Amino acid sequence: MPPVSAPPFPPAAAVLAPPGFARTRTLITVAPTGAESTKADVPALPVTLEELVAAAKACEAAGAGLVHVHIRDEHALPTLDLGRLRETVAALREQTSMVIQLSTGGAVTDPYEQRLRVLEAQPDSCSLTCGTVNFGEDVFLNSWPFIVELYQRTQAMGIVAEFELFDLGHVAALHRLLDGYGAPAGGRVHADLVMGVPGGMPGTAATLVAAVAALPEQATWSATGIGRSTLPVALSALAAGGHLRVGLEDTVTFARGRPVRDNAELVERAAALAVLAQRPPMSTEQAREFLNLNPGGGTSTSGSVTGAPGRDERAVEA
Ligand SMILES: [Zn+2]
Repeated sequence: MPPVSAPPFPPAAAVLAPPGFARTRTLITVAPTGAESTKADVPALPVTLEELVAAAKACEAAGAGLVHVHIRDEHALPTLDLGRLRETVAALREQTSMVIQLSTGGAVTDPYEQRLRVLEAQPDSCSLTCGTVNFGEDVFLNSWPFIVELYQRTQAMGIVAEFELFDLGHVAALHRLLDGYGAPAGGRVHADLVMGVPGGMPGTAATLVAAVAALPEQATWSATGIGRSTLPVALSALAAGGHLRVGLEDTVTFARGRPVRDNAELVERAAALAVLAQRPPMSTEQAREFLNLNPGGGTSTSGSVTGAPGRDERAVEA
């Protein structure tokens, strides 16, 4: 990689180094549903709990170690209904061994308070988007106070935050967050570069290299390219030592003029690329160790790495 000038922020204290196998194995995240596509447009989209669990099981069998979840209501529209989220976490925990990550992004219209309450469903992990981004014709709002509030709640509850980065400015915000508020629950910093969103950073190899060079020391990262940037981003990510996120949330076309069959097809392709790169998919146990999660759920440190209060020491507002 070419030399790049140092990031403008010093490394945050108390961030744990990734385990050795992070270099020789690939974490495959599947994002099966998202909040953007409709069932009418994409019949393969899992929108019921049964469809989601079936998709998750097939993706686990194909090599996925983490599932990034958005849910839908009885009309297949995006929802952050807490009862449904809890049911979803319970069903996925019972029927798969994947790391369960809930999106706190919801749909672009969801209010902050409802997005914060997602944590009450007690997933292993949640997404935490580090800034605002134009999202097609919409705006995906993430104000600094909201980012900080969400981050502090994850630390208090022992939920591993995955930092979603749509732009280079979001990478700078991640440094600011770690410097101001310490390491995440579990002590490891794992980010996800979401590339190729109309309004965010483009899904190109050059952009990926620039974003990765700016990440905090010790950080691990996945990358996903939206739509046509899927393959360029996946190949660049593997070449640069990163991990992969795939799924119908990000891509509905497998090849020109050919819709994706189902989420497992995308995981199978990602796993094949990872094997070619001689970094085969992580097992779900390795995915847990990678993020420093306990086998039964929760983090191994529950925030103690940073000196932040643990799960039981600080009440979280309902
Ligand atoms: Zn998402």
